[in-house]
Amino acid sequence: MLDLVPAFARIGEENAFAVLARATDLARQGRDIINLGIGQPDFATPGHIVEAAIKALRDGQHGYTPATGILPLREAVAADVHRRFGAEVSPERVMVVPGGKVTMFMAILMFGQPGVEILYPDPGFPIYRSMIEFTGATPIPVPIREENGFAFSADETLSLITPRTRLLIINSPANPTGGVTPKAEIDKLVAGLARFPRVALMSDEIYDQMTYDGEAHCSLLTYPEIRDRLILLNGWSKTYAMTGWRMGWSIWPEKAYEAARKLAVNSFSCVNAPAQWAGLAALTGPQDDVHRMVAEFDRRRKAVVEGLNALPGVSAITPKGAFYAFPNISQTGWKAKKLASALLEKAGIATIGGPDFGVHGEGYIRLSYANSLENIERALARMGEFLATEKAAA
Ligand code: PLP
Repeated sequence: MLDLVPAFARIGEENAFAVLARATDLARQGRDIINLGIGQPDFATPGHIVEAAIKALRDGQHGYTPATGILPLREAVAADVHRRFGAEVSPERVMVVPGGKVTMFMAILMFGQPGVEILYPDPGFPIYRSMIEFTGATPIPVPIREENGFAFSADETLSLITPRTRLLIINSPANPTGGVTPKAEIDKLVAGLARFPRVALMSDEIYDQMTYDGEAHCSLLTYPEIRDRLILLNGWSKTYAMTGWRMGWSIWPEKAYEAARKLAVNSFSCVNAPAQWAGLAALTGPQDDVHRMVAEFDRRRKAVVEGLNALPGVSAITPKGAFYAFPNISQTGWKAKKLASALLEKAGIATIGGPDFGVHGEGYIRLSYANSLENIERALARMGEFLATEKAAA
């Protein structure tokens, strides 16, 4: 028997990948499956970005790069956050990592240990809790509420901080709810954090370019008073339709940066070189494709919300960001995970049950609208038929 350390009995998963595997299986068996499960843009990576990777390979970019990423790319990240938020960031604080997830992995490893509490959004990205539990720290969920437009509450978050709290994770625009926390609430959180100087902050801003209705993204980078304890998570996956390239970037305070660099040296060495050159083309090239994708997501968002609200027992608030809808299905009589599973098996629609994102996700399912308008409309019609004819399984 293999004797793995007990931490591996505590590490979790992301059910979206299991749903994707099941959906692919069913499709292979000839079923017509509409995938609203996985959170990845359905667009191709823009051509000029792909070409930059091919050129890098042809130019001989085959070797190791610095563990923190090639300098022009770190400079481009610093220029990007300056252009978009007016934030002054040194390229010496920018890390290029293989996907956004790696930043949360590293940050949670840096602060998590038995006796420590880490606050994270619930419902929220499942890897936060999984990694907190892996380290032996105590996960403290911050409830994200529909009546609050799925924004987090600064007061509620601050009220959960104790002398044992070492890290607070926030995420806006948010997965799985599409919620965007207003600037006034973030101002309040940052002001309140002055009372808790030992609490570090990880702000997951991977959906920062996906906001709608004129809502401007409020980056935590714009608060100089917390820069000495802010870890900023971002990346190329969602903005540039590059999920499979495994390209993320993060910004760290000095001491944590050194720790992150050492974790990189001890694990992946560096992100693959041609992908980094592609990332550079993404940041420095034309941004039209980003705007085109976001405009298309916006069209779908409106169609999804309208369609969901016409279904029996379903109500959905309008998400202000990301590419997810998080309808309330409690009036259908179904438990969320049972509904998600029945929708896949019986109606051929992949969605994710809210409890896969935390206990406060019961009563909701997540639909990713990273699929064509036509498929979204077919899925909504099928859902309507399903809810009208199938008996609810509580
Ligand atoms: N953070 C959030 C909130 C996400 O939804 C995701 C991906 O779904 C990630 C981070 C990870 O992104 P990546 O694919 O770049 O690791």
